[in-house]
Amino acid sequence: MHPRNPYNKPPDFADLARRYPPLRPHVFINHTGSSAIDFKSLPAQKRLTEALLRLDYGLSLTLPDDRLCPPVPNRLNYVLWLQDIVKSNCGSATVRGLDIGTGASAIYPLLACGIEHTWNFVATDIDERSVQFAKQNVSKNSMDSRIAVERVQVDGPILQLLHTSLMDFDFTMCNPPFYSSAEDVSRSADFKEFGPNAVCSGAEVEMITPGGETNFVARIFLESLQLKTKCRWYTSMLGKMSSIPELVSLFREHSVDNYAITEFVQGQTRRWAIGWSFQDARLPDTLARFSNQALQNMMPSRNTLHHVFLGARSAEILASALRNVLTLINGVTIASSATPAIYDHSSAMLHQENHRLLISLFVS
Ligand code: SAH
Repeated sequence: MHPRNPYNKPPDFADLARRYPPLRPHVFINHTGSSAIDFKSLPAQKRLTEALLRLDYGLSLTLPDDRLCPPVPNRLNYVLWLQDIVKSNCGSATVRGLDIGTGASAIYPLLACGIEHTWNFVATDIDERSVQFAKQNVSKNSMDSRIAVERVQVDGPILQLLHTSLMDFDFTMCNPPFYSSAEDVSRSADFKEFGPNAVCSGAEVEMITPGGETNFVARIFLESLQLKTKCRWYTSMLGKMSSIPELVSLFREHSVDNYAITEFVQGQTRRWAIGWSFQDARLPDTLARFSNQALQNMMPSRNTLHHVFLGARSAEILASALRNVLTLINGVTIASSATPAIYDHSSAMLHQENHRLLISLFVS
């Protein structure tokens, strides 16, 4: 769970139903005396998603019965990670994102634009029905000037729109079809999870792609080798932890060592996200690595040094002292503005009482 995710404890369903009446028929009191909904009921899931989007983000969505109903807390985890990446690395006044496979809900662009008022999106999908709904949902929320929905061809390049765009992008994002076949779906832990605990209304086009998610993300990676810095961070969500080593091997084969892996945990559901970049700037370890014994060899190298400087009177004095020392090292250039970037206490990236100083070093 992302530390800024407000859904870190189960919602008060009774209160939500009071504020969003269509949810009312689905709320009941369970054996522990708490209000609950039945996650196996698709209408209940849909009303919950609508309620959270309406009440917490002012968004109104039409969700078709035969396409995925996106759980808001899970989708928010990915948006918050991207928000951290953009804050730490990008810094353009207008932030431009590409959402690959936006689905009928267009959940990622709508949620992200609802939170970040300088963000704009191009959102793609191959599925005509989803594209129609996505366009309606964007218009319904008066986001047409910030989110363009485009239908793309199943056999064309996934990043086609980056090739043809005159603009550079800050990030690409994607919640790909995870599975390679119907058997792959039924073998997965998720399918078992949908069984006892929840239902999934995903259509085949949303769940299955040739070669599964690894192949889909590998295609994006191979295409990105042509586009390089046309986009700062290429990213994708992953439904299977086993996809991480396969993709990291591919990165290493192509000598791409600026990458990031993270994990999203929401209730019983675990998801991962992976990202890579062709620019020099790295992400801090808190965004690029997570602790997992089995995956330690897969993580990008550490680049964040935590050191408490006792007695430093101000961040500026400390910065200039550090700069003076670092410039003595042969072959090292320091990229930091006259006033170094300092994250203050309100930043989610800070975990100590101290100011955090960001100085980038380049070895020539
Ligand atoms: N983003 C939505 C939907 C994810 S399901 C959500 O998170 O809820 C995956 C989506 O990818 C489906 O809508 C599917 O139609 C789309 N898709 C599959 N192959 C694609 C491709 N080559 N290019 C763009 N979208 C694709």
